[in-house]
Amino acid sequence: MTNFKLSTKNFIILIVVAYLFSILVRTIWVYQFHDVDAFKWNSQLMINTNDGYGYAEGARDILAGGHQKGDGSFIDSSLAIVTAFLAKILPFSFETIILWMPTFFGSLLVIPIMLIARVLNMEYAGFIGALLGGIAWSYYNRTMTGYYDTDMLTIVLPTFTLWATIYALLKKRNRYILLVSFFMVLSNWWYFQNYSLSLSMTVVTLLYTLIFDRKDIFNYKVLIFMLISLSQIDLVIKIPIILALFGFFHIKSDLDKRVVFLILAISILMIFATGGLDPIINRVNGYLFRDSSDTIANEGLHYFSVVKTVREAGAIPFELFANRISGHTVTFILSIIGYILLIFKNRIFLLSLPLVGLGFIALWGGLRFTVYAVPILALSMGYLIIYISDYFKDKKSKLAFIAIATMAIIIPNIIHIENYKVPTVFRKSTVTVLDKLKNIASREDYVLAWWDYGYPIRYYSDVKTFIDGARHSGSANYPVSFALLHNQKASANIARLYAEYKERSLRDSNFTGTLLEKGMREYGKSSVNEFISSLNSDIKLPKKRRDIYYYLPFKMMDILPTIDLFSNLNPATGRNYRSPLFIRAGLIKRTINSFYLSNGMQIIGGSIRRGNNILPIEQLVTTEYDKKGLLHTTTKHLHIGSGVYVIYMKNYNQFLILDKRLFNSTYIQLFVLEHYDHKLFEPTILTPFVKVFKLKV
Ligand code: MN
Repeated sequence: MTNFKLSTKNFIILIVVAYLFSILVRTIWVYQFHDVDAFKWNSQLMINTNDGYGYAEGARDILAGGHQKGDGSFIDSSLAIVTAFLAKILPFSFETIILWMPTFFGSLLVIPIMLIARVLNMEYAGFIGALLGGIAWSYYNRTMTGYYDTDMLTIVLPTFTLWATIYALLKKRNRYILLVSFFMVLSNWWYFQNYSLSLSMTVVTLLYTLIFDRKDIFNYKVLIFMLISLSQIDLVIKIPIILALFGFFHIKSDLDKRVVFLILAISILMIFATGGLDPIINRVNGYLFRDSSDTIANEGLHYFSVVKTVREAGAIPFELFANRISGHTVTFILSIIGYILLIFKNRIFLLSLPLVGLGFIALWGGLRFTVYAVPILALSMGYLIIYISDYFKDKKSKLAFIAIATMAIIIPNIIHIENYKVPTVFRKSTVTVLDKLKNIASREDYVLAWWDYGYPIRYYSDVKTFIDGARHSGSANYPVSFALLHNQKASANIARLYAEYKERSLRDSNFTGTLLEKGMREYGKSSVNEFISSLNSDIKLPKKRRDIYYYLPFKMMDILPTIDLFSNLNPATGRNYRSPLFIRAGLIKRTINSFYLSNGMQIIGGSIRRGNNILPIEQLVTTEYDKKGLLHTTTKHLHIGSGVYVIYMKNYNQFLILDKRLFNSTYIQLFVLEHYDHKLFEPTILTPFVKVFKLKV
C-alpha cells in the first residue's frame, strides 16, 4: 500500500482543507435561505432544531446570571456553558453564535479521522475519509448549520478518544495516556449518554489487550486510566486522582506488575461501586420495555405514554440505514469491505468496533444511531480507494482513479444536502408574538402550550412553561392536553391548579404527586373521575400567585388528535375514550349552495355528503377577518342535536368538522372563533397565526 509519511506541515494543510470543505458544504443551507425574511430574527437566520432552544435558554440564563426556580432551564448543561463562554468572548451576536456553532464544531470530526489515519500511516486515505465523514448524510443532518444541539461534538469526542487509545497502545508512551483520559472525561461531560460507548470502548480495549498484547504492562495502565475516567465520581475529585496517578506512574516507571494489577482491580471495583453499570441497565430496560404498553402506571393512575408518539424510535429499512451512514448503498457496502480489510491490516483498528456497532443499533433502535458509524466507515472507504489505487501502475491513471472515486462517494451526500431544506423551528411572525409576550409576562409567569413549543417559548418570551422537550411524561402532559381540549371552565380550573400546585411543590418538598393526585387530596375526592368532573363547576381555587398565558398557534391543528390522546382517557384504567370527530379539509370549489372539499366531501343543504352518505350538521360557523384584522363569526343553526359542527375558516380556506366536545374546546373556541368566556379569559395578542390569551381566574 502507498505509504509515504507526510511532513507535519503537509498533514496540517490536509486537515485544514478537509475542515474548510466541511464548513463550506454547511453554508449551502444558509445560502438557500439567506433571503427568506420569515426565517430570520434579529437579522439572523433562526436555528432549525427545537431542543436547541433549551440550550439557548440555558446559555442566556448563564449570561444573565441566574434563572427561576423550577423553570427547567439547562443552565448546567455543557452546551449552554460553552455557548455562554463563546458569546462572552466573541464579537458576534448570540443568534449568530448558536446558528454557526454546529458548523464549526461538527466539522471538527475531520481532525480525529485524519489523526487515526496518521497513526496507521494512511494519511491520504484519511483525507478522503475526512472529506466524506465530515458531510456524510446523517452526520450532516445532525451537525448542519442551525442544528444547535449537543450532536455537534457527540461523535467528535469519542472519535478523538479512539484516536488517543490507538495512539497510546501503539506508541507505548506514558504521556499519551493522559490524552485518553482527557478525551474520555470530556466526551462524558459533554454528553452523558456517551457513557455506554466509553464503557464499551474500555471493554474492547481490555479484550484486545488480553488477546493480542497481554504481556505488556503498559496496556493495563491505559485501562486503569480509562476506568477512572469513566467512574461516576465528581470531576473535582476525578481530575486530581488522574493527575496524581499519572505522576506516580511517571516517577515509578519500573513498577512491579502486581501493583499495576492491584490498581486495575481497584479501578474496576470503583466502576461497580459508583453505580457505573446503572446507565447501561437503565438504557437496556428503556429500550426493551418501551413499547410494552400504551400507558404507564403512576401510583395507581394511568397516563398515555409519549414514546408512542415519538417518530424517531423504531426500526429503519436497510437502504435508509446505508444512505444515512455513507450517502449511498454501494458506498456503504464498499466501506464495510474497506473496514474488514483495514482490520486485517491493523488489528488495533478492532478498537473502533463499539463506534461502528453503535451505528448498527440503528437497524432496530432507530435512525438516530447511524451517525456513530460515520467516521470509521468513511475512513474505511478512503482506505479502500487508496488500496485499489495501488493496482494502477501508471501514476496519472492512479490519480485519476482516486479523484473520480472520491467524487463518486461524496456527490450523493452533496445531492442529499442540497435537497435537505429544513425550515427554521419558528417563523418570524410567531417570534414577533413571543417577543411581545416577553414584555407583558413576568419571568415567573406560565405559558400553557404543548410541549413541542416549550423551549422556544421560554427562549423568546423568558417565562415558565408546564412541559417541554425534556418534561413531557403522560402525567405532565395530561393537564395541558385537558386545558387545550376541554371546555373553558374546566380548562381554567385545571390550568390554575397546575400552576399553583407546581409552585407549591417548589416551596414544599412534601407536596408531591401528579396534578390529579394532588387535586384528589386537596379536594377530598376518593375517585379520580369524580375530581375530573368537579373541574366543570365553580370550585374554590387556590390563591393566584402567577399569571397564566395560553399559547394557541394555528399550526397546533396538525397535531390536535395526538394532543387529545393524552387527556381523552380514563386515568383510573388508562383506557382511551372514543376518538373525537376531527376532520380538516381545504375548500376546492364553491357554488351558490355548496362547498366541495379537498377530501371528497361536499357541504350542501345543511349536511355533509360523501357519496351516498349524508351527515346532518348542527351548526355551521363561518369565520372571517375584516380589513382591520378583527375576526367575525356568523353561525347557522341547522339540525339541532346532530352533534356535528362545521367551521368554515374563510381566510385560511379551511373547513373543520368536529364533534361537540372539540367544538366547545378551549383551543377551538379561543383560537378559531375567539368566543372566549369574558369571566375566564382575556385576549393578550391576536394574530391569524398565533393567539395568546390570559387566564383571569
Ligand atoms: Mn426562566
